[in-house]
Amino acid sequence: MKAPPLVFFLRGIVRGDCGHVHRTLQAAAKCYRREWSDCAMLGGYTDRTLKFSLDLTKAESQLVRTAFDGYLHGEKVTVSCE
Ligand SMILES: [Zn+2]
Repeated sequence: MKAPPLVFFLRGIVRGDCGHVHRTLQAAAKCYRREWSDCAMLGGYTDRTLKFSLDLTKAESQLVRTAFDGYLHGEKVTVSCE
């Protein structure tokens, strides 16, 4: 049995799906940053969060989220548009 690939996407109750299937965390982070600047221009903020295509263990998802944060805050810029 072949395991399905792990892919990433961004989803929020208000903002909905980003409409992509990101095969890398880097791509997902790039999409997320764009989403943040779009919403900042509108004077709001996004409720999208990172989602996975597979059910990961708590430890695994923690690792992925840490890596994702690393890509997001590579320049140690605190993003805030609330
Ligand atoms: Zn996206």
